[in-house]
Amino acid sequence: MIIRKSQAEIEKMARAGAVVWGCLDLLGRKIEPGITTKELDRLAEKYIRDKGGVPTFKGYRGFPGSICASPNDMVVHGIPGKVRLREGDVLGVDVGVTMDGYIADGATTFPVGEISAKAHELLRVTEESLSKGIAQCRIGNRVGDISHAVQTHAEAHGFSVVESMVGHGVGREMHEDPQVPNFGPAGQGPELREGMVLAIEPMVNFGGFEVEMGDDSWAIYTKDGGLSAHFEHTVAITKHGPRILTTAEVAGG
Ligand code: MG
Repeated sequence: MIIRKSQAEIEKMARAGAVVWGCLDLLGRKIEPGITTKELDRLAEKYIRDKGGVPTFKGYRGFPGSICASPNDMVVHGIPGKVRLREGDVLGVDVGVTMDGYIADGATTFPVGEISAKAHELLRVTEESLSKGIAQCRIGNRVGDISHAVQTHAEAHGFSVVESMVGHGVGREMHEDPQVPNFGPAGQGPELREGMVLAIEPMVNFGGFEVEMGDDSWAIYTKDGGLSAHFEHTVAITKHGPRILTTAEVAGG
């Protein structure tokens, strides 16, 4: 069942989204060679709680971190820990914030120091794929239009999209209907209607699309060991078009 949100609910989600954005912005300024993902997790939790939010992921099905921190060939769901970042790494950071009972979910993949041109291209194309997907978030379109836009852009650059994990509706629950795959034909799936809020999250691999789970039963890695990137925004479908909620708070908005 797809739960559409009222204007007031969307504003609550935007306030959570502003904390997601602020947290990612903070971490982006702290990420450098030598820092551990555990240190980033502590910074994130303090930031989120200081803003009056709760880190949504902490305790979710027993997840121990406030963020997911997924370096290099790890696609998503990395538990923050002793991993010490090195020059040339990329680090996917996923942040969920609950405020006033509503959740926003966003992710960015950051370069650590100087990264290779190939890695840079993967990050750029994945972020562009997210933008292409968001551009499809218009009343009357279908979920498949988002999926198709993401896949088409990523594959046009020779990359592959992960199929076994997908974006999702979001609201009072972190994972609501509908699922939002990053692949598939246009014109299919649920129709987009005003008040739907979707977490759109392309996961794009440098090599093959296949992934496998790590020993901790959380981390997801590329099967071929190639780099992976992940970008995510929470987006509301409005009569004025897509509204990204995981962004800086609009003054007076
Ligand atoms: Mg998500």
